[in-house]
This record gives sequence, C-alpha cells and structure tokens, in this order.
Amino acid sequence: MEPRNDTIMKIEIISTGDELMSGLTLDSNFNWAGDTLTTLGFDVAYHTTVGDIRDRIAEAFHIAQNRAQAVIVTGGLGPTDDDLTAEVAAEYFGSSLELNQEAYDKLENWMKERGKVLSESNKKQAYLPACSTMLDNKWGTAPGFRIESQGMIFFFLPGVPTEFHAMMNHYVVPELENRAQDRMKRAMRLVKIFGLPESEVAERLRGLEHEGVTLGYRSHRPEIHLRVCSFADTESHAQKLTRDFVDEIQSRIGEYVFTTEGELLEEVVGRLLIEKSLTLATAESCTGGLLASRITDVPGSSTYFLEGIVSYSNEAKEKVLGVSESLLQSHGAVSAPVAEAMASGVRKLSGSDIGIGISGIAGPGGGTAEKPVGTVYIGLDVKGVGTSSYKYQFSGSREQIKIVSSEKALDMIMKFLIMKV
Ligand code: AMP
Ligand code: MG
Repeated sequence: MEPRNDTIMKIEIISTGDELMSGLTLDSNFNWAGDTLTTLGFDVAYHTTVGDIRDRIAEAFHIAQNRAQAVIVTGGLGPTDDDLTAEVAAEYFGSSLELNQEAYDKLENWMKERGKVLSESNKKQAYLPACSTMLDNKWGTAPGFRIESQGMIFFFLPGVPTEFHAMMNHYVVPELENRAQDRMKRAMRLVKIFGLPESEVAERLRGLEHEGVTLGYRSHRPEIHLRVCSFADTESHAQKLTRDFVDEIQSRIGEYVFTTEGELLEEVVGRLLIEKSLTLATAESCTGGLLASRITDVPGSSTYFLEGIVSYSNEAKEKVLGVSESLLQSHGAVSAPVAEAMASGVRKLSGSDIGIGISGIAGPGGGTAEKPVGTVYIGLDVKGVGTSSYKYQFSGSREQIKIVSSEKALDMIMKFLIMKV
C-alpha cells in the first residue's frame, strides 16, 4: 500500500565504498538516514550502493539525477586514493577541483590543535568542485559540499558514521525541510505491538486503507512496528488522517498495542510507575541483567528502579534473595515457585513495591524433556497484592530467548500497572 504523491520530493541516497560492496562494512549510514528521513515523512525513493570506481560513481549520479529531486551521497571524501567522490563530482558537473581556502585553513587548524602537520594526502580533502558550496565538517576532517543543478540538490557527506549523522542533522535535514515546505504536509506516528504474531497482525489489519495514508510494517523481534504516515494539504488535516488511522489500528489490535507514540516498552513501564508512584526491583537468572539494563536505559529510571540482582547460581538465589534450599531442591531453579521466591526476595531486599523474578533455560544446552530450552518462568510479587508466576515456552537463539524474556517481563509489569492498580 504505497499511495505516494508525485508532488512529494523524491530522495535518493548513494552510498559509496568498496567495503560496502564486499560486505565487510554494513551500510549503517543508509540505515540511519532511511530511518531518520522516513520518520520525518520524506520519501526515500531510491538507494544505490557503488564501489570506489569512477565510472560507476558517475553512473550512479546520472541515474539519480533522472529520477530524484534530492540526492545524498555518503563516503569517498577521505584523504586516500580510493576516495574519489569530489573528483568524480567535479567532472560530472562539468567543473574542476579547486583548493577551497576556507576548507584548507580549517584542516590546518584541526591538525595544529592536535599537534600534527597537514600531510599531502590530508590536503587533498580541501580540494572541492569549483561549482560546489562547502559544508563545514565540525566533527571530523573531511569537509562535505553541496551542488545545485537543474533544480536538484546533491549533498556530499563523509562516510564516517558520526560525521555523516551530524552533517545530516546540521545541514541536510533543515534544507530538505525548507524545500518541502510548499509541498504536501505530513504527519507520522509509530505504533508498536507485542504479543501477537505478524500473521495475526496482518490478518486483523486486512483491508485497512485510506487515501493519503501509508502503512509500513517492520518486524523488530519480538515487537512489530507499524509506521503510519499521512500526507495532506495542511498539517492539521495530515494529523487527523494519521490519528483516525491509528485509532482504527488500536481498535483492531487492542491491548497488544503498547504505544502509538513510538515509545520503548521500558519507557512505557517507567512512565506508568511514575504515574502510580510505585517502585520496582528485579532478580534475574537466565536474562543475566538484561531486564535491569533495559529499565535503566531510560533517563530518570532512578526514581522508580531500586535494585537489580543477577542471581545466576543456586547459591546466589539462596544467599542474596533468600530462596530456600528445599524449594530449589524439590522444584529446580527453573520453576514457578523459585521465580516467585526470587520476585518476593528481591522486593523485600530492596523495599520496592513490585518485584520481578526470571528463571529459565536460554540454551543451547541444558534443556530436558520436561523443561526444554526456552522454558522461562517469570514471577511477579506486589506489595499488598500477592505473588503470581507464569510459564512461557520461547524459541530461538540464546540471545533471542533473553530478549523475549525481558520483553515479556516488561509487558507483564505494564499490564499489571494498567489493569490492577
Ligand atoms: P570514507 O568517507 O569513504 O573514507 O569512509 C570512511 C569510513 O567510514 C570507512 O572506512 C567506513 O568504515 C565508514 N563508512 C563509509 N561509508 C559507510 C556507510 N555507508 N555506512 C557505514 N560506515 C561507512
Ligand atoms: Mg570510502
């Protein structure tokens, strides 16, 4: 479902570099730019990757010029011989390379500040196409530049990801936003779902379409993300289109939607804990602290997260959390009573309102017929409410089982906070 309007500026991203073609380096610049620009409602229409070969780079410029209105080129601005972008750009636009004094002075200063002298190969970076405007690189050595040609704009940015991101945010995004102003207005929302398989989500959303609205799926295991983007003549109209569409998604997917604002699950949990003035502590075995790590990724989590224990061995479960030896002996560490005892143990230890205990078999070894790999128990203990636990059977790699276990625990806390308090 792609009702793209032809009046929307089409953007092409050209990634250059032999290391991208050989698969040695992941094209994370495209990844980041695609996500950033799409989130802002831009139409990233094409993506080309070429190696460090003159003819092919020029061919990529030519193809982009015929189909896009804005082109972002990344890579090939460095000091080495395989960095050809400026040279090819100069030739392609019928210009020549010229020493850019401003770029040269900045480079010299950059080196001086670091106690180095400008080498011949570094000087090369100050030669830019005469027809271009320099884009000062405050984050590294290679200056970028922009060239306008036949109503189109080409941006040339360095390949080093931190520099690429900074220059995109500083120069490219504001200019694209300016250029897109008299075009269609857009509104975007990110809906996140956990607990339903993708096929079921697709089934429930079947037939959901609206003119001017695009719906993009992304599997972000174990979550499913839906990007809703609307285009209209006014911002408020675009927002209304998006809002109505998101409302319809919510009514079809129900409680499995945990945010319509693009929040992380751990952010939703944090927000609810703050709203209800409750505190949390965790005791983890098979997740090895991943749950605590995710919770503490959220700024401000110290207001509600008191303590996280990684109790991997039976001794730690006994010594630190007070899980009784007889419980461990009779049920095994991976069991409902132990997950519950871990939850109540850490809650009492920390003095929190809510305690969570996770115990499971992440694999690949350690499974039995009775408790195969992926068996995970999550215990929840709430002050004044009581203790409960749930058994899950997850599948996938060790890492995936750890991720989905932490996700399920967060989901459990969220559902409890929404429904029970
Ligand atoms: P360059 O500007 O082509 O000299 O690239 C400098 C360094 O940035 C390369 O050695 C790569 O490690 C990295 N790089 C270049 N292009 C990309 C890209 N598209 N995505 C991620 N890293 C990149
Ligand atoms: Mg390169």
